[in-house]
Amino acid sequence: MPWFHGKISGPQAVSKLKPTEDGLFLVRESVRHPGDFVLCVCFNQKVFHYHVIFQNNKLSIDNKEFFYNLIDMIEFYSRTQGALATVLLKHKKKEGTKSAETKLLKSGWLLDLSKLTLGEALGQGEFGAVFQGEYCGQRVAVKNIRCDVTAQAFLEETSVMTNLHHKNLVPLLGVILHNGLHIVTELMTKGNLVNFLRTRGRFAVSVTQLLRFALDVCEGMEYLECKKLLHRDLAGRNILVSEDTVAKISDFGLAKVSSMATDNSKLPIKWTAPEALKSQKFSTQSDVWSYGVLLWEIFSFGRQPYPKMVSFFPSHSKDIW
Ligand code: ADP
Repeated sequence: MPWFHGKISGPQAVSKLKPTEDGLFLVRESVRHPGDFVLCVCFNQKVFHYHVIFQNNKLSIDNKEFFYNLIDMIEFYSRTQGALATVLLKHKKKEGTKSAETKLLKSGWLLDLSKLTLGEALGQGEFGAVFQGEYCGQRVAVKNIRCDVTAQAFLEETSVMTNLHHKNLVPLLGVILHNGLHIVTELMTKGNLVNFLRTRGRFAVSVTQLLRFALDVCEGMEYLECKKLLHRDLAGRNILVSEDTVAKISDFGLAKVSSMATDNSKLPIKWTAPEALKSQKFSTQSDVWSYGVLLWEIFSFGRQPYPKMVSFFPSHSKDIW
């Protein structure tokens, strides 16, 4: 990540941060305790150094909030001040790192803001609203991520998406860097699969069509597997339907960024395999479990799985399994 500056001393971190901007931060490896990480944050013309404790395979700076990795920790403290002097606002970029931004620019995936017109909202995602729009005459969907750190993490993942092309994956058209990050994808005019099935029902959608949806998703997932990628959040709400009624998988390059991947309290319990809930063991097999639940959604015309179970996210998933 661009905020990771490798093994540098405290004074070196201070001189890099030149403590003038509140919320500016970097992460370094301790010189005195190699292997340990330190989060350095500017506040009130000073730099605060927070030693990252490693305990039971988890990271923490206060023994209260625990994280599976530094990215999750930075993501959390970009939203919540917690034990820090200030919420993290901007990362100090390590000089010489070739950013995802540069890579996207070079490969032609950075789009021109002046050619984009935004229309009405299509829905609300976990990280920001999704809008309808038009780009150079093409109808598009635009997801806007405002938080600087989340946007940075998404940008890294978006560069993974640029290498994926399949008829059953929602095509990425490019990104725009303005007010955070805008991710531009092809507009799937028939919306998400759950709403599609619920609003039409069994009299309008044939069994052949249901089977076609099931096969569409299967082919998209087979492609992701051959690219050695996991989805981790496969569910009807993440399948979109195109104008010609083809089901396409969405959010496939972003699953790794999502806090869902590591924060147990945010796992979509009804779609998540037991081993993934219990011990974060995500695999192609756990994606297959989610696919099974998705089949149930398809053939029930978009009903909520396990209707008697109220919670979507577990507060204590271990109690349930
Ligand atoms: P998140 O995964 O972050 O929760 P989504 O990407 O699923 O957010 O977007 C939320 C909603 O926006 C979707 O359920 C869908 O209705 C709509 N949406 C997202 N992308 C598109 C698209 N490319 N075409 C049409 N609608 C979309």
